[in-house]
Parts: sequence; C-alpha cells; structure tokens
Amino acid sequence: MNQITPLSLDDILPLTCSRAGSCCFGNQVLINPWELALMAKAKKMTVREFNYLYCELGGIRLKFDGDLTFNNKKACRQYVKNKGCSVYDARPLACRLFPIGRYVQNEEAHYMYKGTKFPCLNECPEVTKLPKMTVGNYLLGQETALFEQAQDAYLEMVQNIADIAFELLLDTGLAASGDTRTLQLWRRAGEESPDRLQEHLPKVWLDLILYPELEVDEEDPISFISKHNDLFQQEVQEVFGSSGSKQEFHDASVLMLRSALFLASSIGANSKDLAELWISIAKNHGANE
Ligand code: SF4
Ligand code: SF4
Repeated sequence: MNQITPLSLDDILPLTCSRAGSCCFGNQVLINPWELALMAKAKKMTVREFNYLYCELGGIRLKFDGDLTFNNKKACRQYVKNKGCSVYDARPLACRLFPIGRYVQNEEAHYMYKGTKFPCLNECPEVTKLPKMTVGNYLLGQETALFEQAQDAYLEMVQNIADIAFELLLDTGLAASGDTRTLQLWRRAGEESPDRLQEHLPKVWLDLILYPELEVDEEDPISFISKHNDLFQQEVQEVFGSSGSKQEFHDASVLMLRSALFLASSIGANSKDLAELWISIAKNHGANE
C-alpha cells in the first residue's frame, strides 16, 4: 500500500466540506453491485442502462468524462453544474468517505487518508477556515454505516466465491492428481486488470455479479447482498453440480477465482495480493503450481 496516514475515530480534522466540488473531478470512484443498483434506482433507470451510460471497468467504476472541467480534470458524470451531485442521497461509500479512506484488516475496519498531507488541502485549502470535527462525527454525518456494512458483506461474498474455487481444486481430486495449471491461472488472473477480468468472464457470470435482478432497498444492503450471494451459489450448483472431468474442475475453479477477483475489485481490494494469498493457502493444502 502507498503511504497512508492512519486515523482514529477521535482524530479532529478540517472535515467540513467547502462544497467546492473539486473531488468530483478527476477522481476514481469504485462501486459495488448494491451501490450500482442504488444509483440506477435514484436515476430511475435499469441497472444495465446506468452501467452503460455512467460506468466503466465493466460496471464497477463511475465514469469521470463529464463536459465540465476543474484544473483540467473532467467531472464525474453525476456532477451537475451549480448543483453538485445529482445522486447525492444514493452516492456511494467512496464519495461519502472522501477525503477519508477505509480498509479492513483482520476483520476490523480502519480509517486513513492517502499520503501525509490532508487530501482536501490540495484543491480546497479554505477547509482550514471551516469548523473541524472528529472522524467519528464525520462518518455519522455522511451516513456511511449501511454502506460500510455493504462493503463488508461483499467482502464475505468474495470469500464465498473463492471458497468454491478452492473446493473445485482441492476437494475434487484435481490438486491430488498432480495438476499445476490451475494455480498458474489463478496467479495470472491476479495480475489482470478489472477490464481484463470481465473480458474473461462469460456473460452469464458477469450478469450474475453485476445485475442480480433484486429489488434494492436503500435501508437494507445486507438482505440484498445475502440474496445476491444465494443467487450466485444456486447458479454454481446448477452449472457445476454435475461437473466430472479434471478439465471441467480446472475450468470451473479458474472461472470462480476470476469472479471472486472481479467482485473484489468493486470494493477496492487488490487482486494481486488476494490471488497470492489464496495461492499460498491452496499450496498449504496440497495444491501445486
Ligand atoms: S476536496 Fe474536500 S473540501 Fe473540497 S469538495 Fe471535496 S470533500 Fe469538500
Ligand atoms: S457520485 Fe456524486 S459525489 Fe460522487 S464523485 Fe460523482 S458527483 Fe461527486
């Protein structure tokens, strides 16, 4: 990870936004499938329409190619001149948190900002004249709690999908048969960008990750993601339940690994690190590369 400044919830920072909107230009905002569905609903669009018009990397990142520019940086497509965010109530976690970042380590959430200089000072130095507040109060004001729950639930779903890849490799006799190609392809998948990962995913699996066709409830990400996970697991049973040859187990294991990594990218996880971790676990359980 690049240099970060760790934060505690009691840290006091210039977190009152000056409303200049500068972080809605030239930024990178990843969105998970629940956030995608939420934003589509706010725009009264289908998820596919919203994805097609406003997202990139297969549907996991907002497009920043608006007509407006600020310091030569293009606006997020949701940004409206003299108004600000057009989906403010449905804005994703990354926008709610900014300038703060969040990561989960050993099942515990940590907060930080990137670098050693408070990020708002780059474009909005006026924030130092506005009231300061604690990180904890900032998160409360931005109503991040449900969105943080969604991130954590998707992290669990990522692990569940990776577990299928493990089972197909370790519990089917594939690894015991001397197979080395599966872990080689896991490693290669870990080096792929989200764009490449989605190119390698058959449409049915990509659709299942991005468009679970569930009613989205702004107040209940957990039920949405739990049903999303169930839909994914049902498809796995239907498609792989009768898999039998080593080649089929190999293909299925690599496909599940790619699916897990693509979903992981939508919550900002590092694919390479994840793949390496999973490869080392598989090796500890008898798989070879
Ligand atoms: S950079 Fe900071 S102060 Fe400026 S608009 Fe974004 S959150 Fe607000
Ligand atoms: S979604 Fe809204 S808050 Fe987030 S970058 Fe786009 S315009 Fe800004």
